[in-house]
Amino acid sequence: MASFRQEFQMRKKVKISVIVENTAGGDGTISEHGMCFWIDTGATQAIFDTGQGGALLHNARIMGVPLEQAESVILSHGHFDHTGGLKTVLHLARNPKVYAHQAAFQPKFACNEYGQSRAIGMPAMIEKSVRKLAGDIFFTTRPTQIADPVFVTGEIPRVTDFEDTGGPFFLDEGCIEDDPFLDDQALFFESSKGIVVLLGCAHAGVINTLLYIQQLTHGKPIHAVMGGMHLLSASRKRMDKTIEYLTRINPDLLGSAHCTGSEATVELWEAFSQKCFPCPAGTSIEFD
Ligand SMILES: [Zn+2]
Ligand SMILES: [Zn+2]
Repeated sequence: MASFRQEFQMRKKVKISVIVENTAGGDGTISEHGMCFWIDTGATQAIFDTGQGGALLHNARIMGVPLEQAESVILSHGHFDHTGGLKTVLHLARNPKVYAHQAAFQPKFACNEYGQSRAIGMPAMIEKSVRKLAGDIFFTTRPTQIADPVFVTGEIPRVTDFEDTGGPFFLDEGCIEDDPFLDDQALFFESSKGIVVLLGCAHAGVINTLLYIQQLTHGKPIHAVMGGMHLLSASRKRMDKTIEYLTRINPDLLGSAHCTGSEATVELWEAFSQKCFPCPAGTSIEFD
């Protein structure tokens, strides 16, 4: 008879479902500019980002995702397209634990070329509902374990010289103070084939994020990377370097999504045709 430890290890499968993404998979789910993953470890269920709030409930129902069973809610950063569905989850789930960097709750703005700004942070009513309905709130400055085997990175050190935050993002309405995205974080866990990484928007830079996760996991191979890579406004140099580093890091699977941008997505698919896979809303993948 297998020992408890062996049985436990045998059961350690993690199922990832994409509930919200800019595209939908044709199964009745709807698309929305945003990102939201469901994580089911068998022992616990967690939600990583929540989209804007329009597609979450509909898609979760179609996919059979039990939002009311979310024990943890993790936010990759404070933008509205990741936090908009938070109120829905907090109302459905029973006082889930919330994991977010403190800076995710700051006001955030985007500015256009004419200097006009618009608020793109967490809507005020949602921040209020976190205070009212969340169980414990964990401010994830540092790497933090959510559940076995799932971790969130906390602040991601900027070590590359070719990655910026990928857009005109500010902390003030006047567009003076740059948003350093201290809140930007990724989720990761170990599978039998290597580390699996889920990205929100990767405003810290997808390569900075992957290098940090490699450092945290003592150089373990990266098996899969899924989510937003925010390469929409990437320079030629950044794109070339990103492909160069991805070649070196060599993940087996690349599921670029959300804010990666269509041009960057085409380049990634051309460079890594054997590794790339689409991950629209409705996608589910099991890692063991
Ligand atoms: Zn963002
Ligand atoms: Zn986003």
